[in-house]
Amino acid sequence: MEKRPFIDCRALEKICAAYPTPFHLYDEREIRARARALAAAFSWNPGFKEYFAVKATPNPSIVRILAEEGCGCDCATGTELMLAAACGVTGRSIMLSSNDTPDEDYRLAARMGALINLDSADMVDCLARALDGTLPATVCLRFNPGGSFEVPDNPAGRPAESKFGMTEAQIFESYARLADAGVTEFGLHSFLLSNAQGNEYYPALARLLFELVVRVRDELGVRISFVDLSGGVGVAYRETDAEADIAAIGEGVRRAYDDVLVPAGMGDVSIFTELGRWMCGPAGALITRVIHMKETYKTYVGVDACAADLIRPAMYGAYHHITVMGKEDAPATLTANVVGGLCENNDQFARDRALPEVEVGDVLFIHDAGAHGHAMGYNYNGRLRSAELLLGEDGTVRLIRRAEKPSDYFATLDIDQDFSSALDQLF
Ligand SMILES: *Cc1c(COP(=O)(O)O)cnc(C)c1O
Repeated sequence: MEKRPFIDCRALEKICAAYPTPFHLYDEREIRARARALAAAFSWNPGFKEYFAVKATPNPSIVRILAEEGCGCDCATGTELMLAAACGVTGRSIMLSSNDTPDEDYRLAARMGALINLDSADMVDCLARALDGTLPATVCLRFNPGGSFEVPDNPAGRPAESKFGMTEAQIFESYARLADAGVTEFGLHSFLLSNAQGNEYYPALARLLFELVVRVRDELGVRISFVDLSGGVGVAYRETDAEADIAAIGEGVRRAYDDVLVPAGMGDVSIFTELGRWMCGPAGALITRVIHMKETYKTYVGVDACAADLIRPAMYGAYHHITVMGKEDAPATLTANVVGGLCENNDQFARDRALPEVEVGDVLFIHDAGAHGHAMGYNYNGRLRSAELLLGEDGTVRLIRRAEKPSDYFATLDIDQDFSSALDQLF
């Protein structure tokens, strides 16, 4: 499908006049539309809830919008738990997805009444130790089936290579131990494919988990009350990628539910999701301006953003579509690499990309940066992290995170008086 920016050139130039590039821009309307489409797709399941993976876009303004749409928070660390609490998301609206988790994070999650998902069998003991022997009433377990996991339209996943989750034997043993220790409510979680294309992933994962839910009931007498399908539904980064059809995905999960759980007398199991990328990816863009052109063995378009603002291309070779604003319909007669200013050759947003004729001063809209974009930012080369702006439903724009200043960069250092005054003289 042809990719179009969610804002037009004139409106974006106005924003750029008020806020210097680079910055991340999010589209409130798209975020709400996605949350509503997801809720509609799973409305057949009365207990359905999305726990937004806050690591994807950990900005309180975004988390609050999603909370208004009924979403909770999936958190992995104490700091993410604090962020959820600051947004008014508490108790069972929080899922702590553990993974090599320190005791203090378990204690904070338990104090907040969050649901806790255990990533390994030994975490049963860690959790009990962290909570002075009193386990929470509800515990979820993360399953890793090992081997490879195949669904049509996707390269095979390799759960056997993944650090996450526990084996089936460990799952059975852990449920039994938890039930003996007085835990009364149980969940089952698994995450087997990231950025899954097409509509087959969730239904296949759901079927696998539903079958395990029935076996756990039959063999242990333990009734699992929620199945957490986690994240992983993909977005169409390339114009040739198929857009995930969330309604079809919800229907596919429903078929698995009707085939497996309902006949087993378990038609009251709740479905949870923890989507991050699908929820916010297409609702955000990195906005950057062309500041240099360079011709050597290739043509380089130098922009004022860099991998510190969006690391996915540098880290995974990920494709992000780029629109040159104002030249949306111009022919793509240029082949160029779009690069940032880090002293690292992998700081390239695009390689050998077909673009319209670009000039210094052009504004580029780098698509699908709304999840795992700003969130993965860093300060290499002394690069300061960019601002985040929210395009409201009424078309107004709000600064939801200011850009870092040099003083932020130096704030955590042990700086003596001489260095401080030397800095003061520079600013
Ligand atoms: C990262 C993560 C998610 C979100 O994944 P997406 O690919 O963004 O949907 C959900 N749950 C857990 C436990 C995660 O680690």
